Amino acid sequence: MKILVLNTGSSSIKFQLFTMPDQAVIASGLVEKIGEEMSAIRYNRTAENLEHLDIKHEVLVRDHADGLTQVVTFLMDDEKGVLSSPKEILAVGHRVVHGGDQFSQPAVIEEDILSQLKQISYLAPLHNPACIKGIEVATETFENATQVAVFDTAFHQSIPEHAYRFAIPSEYYEEHGLRSYGFHGTSHRYVMKQAAQHLEIDPEQFNAITIHLGNGCSMAAIKNGKCIDTSMGLTPLGGLIMGTRSGDIDPSVLLFLSDHLEMSTKEIDQLLNKKSGLKGLTGTNDLRSILDQYDKGDKAAQLAIAMYVYRIKKYIGAYAAALGELDALVFTAGVGENSAIIRNLICEDLGILGIELDNAKNASNQTGTRSIQSEISKVSVLVAPTNEELEIALQTFEVVSAT
Ligand code: ADP
Repeated sequence: MKILVLNTGSSSIKFQLFTMPDQAVIASGLVEKIGEEMSAIRYNRTAENLEHLDIKHEVLVRDHADGLTQVVTFLMDDEKGVLSSPKEILAVGHRVVHGGDQFSQPAVIEEDILSQLKQISYLAPLHNPACIKGIEVATETFENATQVAVFDTAFHQSIPEHAYRFAIPSEYYEEHGLRSYGFHGTSHRYVMKQAAQHLEIDPEQFNAITIHLGNGCSMAAIKNGKCIDTSMGLTPLGGLIMGTRSGDIDPSVLLFLSDHLEMSTKEIDQLLNKKSGLKGLTGTNDLRSILDQYDKGDKAAQLAIAMYVYRIKKYIGAYAAALGELDALVFTAGVGENSAIIRNLICEDLGILGIELDNAKNASNQTGTRSIQSEISKVSVLVAPTNEELEIALQTFEVVSAT
């Protein structure tokens, strides 16, 4: 069965075309800068029996419908394509950022689901409208396909109320849905399963702290395979220090920015989401270049890394206490998978929690899911490459097979 996974942003569409159940990616790519003067399309063909292609070209893409049409044109091209008809795609799995508290599982998208999604769009005004657009366009383009929504928030729906509520009057929760939801759930769930499998532990008995460190960063405390806490909140702004986001901050800073510096809510939003985090502290959100500066003794880079690592350590301590027992610490995403230095700085002095790294294993170039703890470590430490698209394809396949 061919399943297309779509991740639609406000000006981009990322896609991967899978054959299931063998999990092979036969084509993938990206449409960027939709609606701008010049857009870009990248198309990779990776089907096993065909010549591999990696094509990039600049082209005008008016809107999302146009973008998806151009993707389909590539997929069906006589020479470059992998499909003879859009009807071959039997399911489309959509990454949907916010599922509010209505969705703890993937959902087959019918009219009622679409209107529920529209109702909760106010919770993610930058993200959900683009996802909805993607769903509408894909429904028209792939008439034969079942459309499935896979939510970034779903894995976190098992978090108990005492962990997700804010200590403000209840009416703000009851009437406006103000609570922590958490994001990156698809990634946390995927690496949790990979880690449990690697350690040969039943996922339903697995206790872990998963640490997703990419441009966006978040952590999850997982007890018996279920998430009981996560670092992002109402939006992805909460928690860890990220590429461009501040993470946790004393809320009175916002009042100060508004009252004393007379910044508008839009300006504060931009400041905390786009100009803060590692970028605010060093001028760049690319952790590789910050580490180069760190090695040269640059003070701003050293402070930024110290703050970034310290915040993660605090969350590890908090989540170890919340869990009560811990089988594994699991690192994933761009930084978590690739930076031995950051993993080392995070795990330094965590002996109190029974966490000890093996320096050689941590520094090795091995790929795939692997253990990097020392022999005396009571807790396993793993690097587990994330694959959100595959997780979306797997969940979509499961839903479609069940119906
Ligand atoms: P996104 O959240 O956009 O998907 P990624 O998971 O790709 O982000 O992570 C991007 C981050 O990973 C960037 O800060 C990048 O510098 C960092 N990164 C990638 N490779 C390395 C590496 N070898 N060492 C340190 N950081 C790395």
